[in-house]
Amino acid sequence: MTTRLLTGGVGADGASLVLRLDDVSGTVVAAAASLVVQPTDDVVDCTGLVLLPVGAEPHVHLDKVGTIGDAPNPSGELMDAVRAWLAHAPSLTFDDVHRRATEAIDRYVVSGTTAVRSHVNVHATIDLAVLEAVLAVRDDVADRCDVQVVALVTAPLVGDDDVVQATWAQAERALDLGADLVGGAPATDSDPVASVHALVDLAARRDLPIDLHVDEKLDPSSRSLLAYVDAVRARGLGGRATASHCVSLGQQDAAEQHATAVRLADAGIAVVALPPTNLWLQGRGRPVATPRGVTAVRTLLDAGVVVATGADNVEDPFCPLGRTDLVDAARLLALTAHLSPAEAWAAASTSSRAALGLAPADLTVGSRADVFAIEGADVGQALARASAHRLTFRAGRLVSRTTVTTAMT
Ligand SMILES: [Zn+2]
Repeated sequence: MTTRLLTGGVGADGASLVLRLDDVSGTVVAAAASLVVQPTDDVVDCTGLVLLPVGAEPHVHLDKVGTIGDAPNPSGELMDAVRAWLAHAPSLTFDDVHRRATEAIDRYVVSGTTAVRSHVNVHATIDLAVLEAVLAVRDDVADRCDVQVVALVTAPLVGDDDVVQATWAQAERALDLGADLVGGAPATDSDPVASVHALVDLAARRDLPIDLHVDEKLDPSSRSLLAYVDAVRARGLGGRATASHCVSLGQQDAAEQHATAVRLADAGIAVVALPPTNLWLQGRGRPVATPRGVTAVRTLLDAGVVVATGADNVEDPFCPLGRTDLVDAARLLALTAHLSPAEAWAAASTSSRAALGLAPADLTVGSRADVFAIEGADVGQALARASAHRLTFRAGRLVSRTTVTTAMT
């Protein structure tokens, strides 16, 4: 047995913290202010570093990462991004998607993340080789990152024309190939409520969890989230359902936000807030008192909803500036939703793992020995400085070390 002893570091609160990680069981076996070195310990000096729960990306699009040059979106509007993507996607190849997605996962690992949920568009005009490439990456990187693949069944999904029928057939094939979840973006469809129910029905019939892009628009009258709550309850998918974005919820009055938040908590639906992409896409054409485009995070937390955060889009037509770094997403969540740094990192780590249905990795004894170490005196300074000086541990093994050396000249 080899154990890894992480010495010299501090916890999120700045107090001394020493961890012993077991790479056989893949769990934390000791956590204390100090621990005596044992013969089996491989000591890792973490002086100057904060030891944090590892990052978990709840929502990215690996098929799209790095395509901004091939699928430009000059307007920056969401629906123009959708059109740009659907125009570009038929030209994608397995090898291209596989290479870009693998590179993105490795950047995630280096930045302190060992779990990633990726949506992948499934549509009549998109070859399933795109999905197959991301599924292959899921298997290839399993030693360093847990990847979940969502079949993002792409509108239109309502009606009986040929494209609709062909897309549903493609969705069935995507699930046959091994996609882990059902996904979709009902607010972009002609009948969002019908689209929600059709997607939830598919997840229930396949006995799969579901993660929908919900109400990704500022219009407060967009309420497909309520239809989602009803459908999830009716189909018994509570605890296995995620609502991503929920932008319109942030535009509704306090009483409606609260009532919806209580229903989400009761239904067991997690919410994923995605400030990087929503700040980029939302609020265009509203130059006065421009809204932030981020959901009602504090109200959701107060109601007991699991709230996670992530990047969504990375250097693609939906967001040219998204990053494979949850420190970046957590910073933006804290700034836009007025969370404390500790709350924001929880959304990017422990809460995100809960939303993904993964075992806890919260640095307590018995939890997964996936640990993120980053330069700083506590979690606040770590997020403020966002240093590249980081270590990532996966199942008790050190899988990435970035050391920054600076010299004044
Ligand atoms: Zn998305």
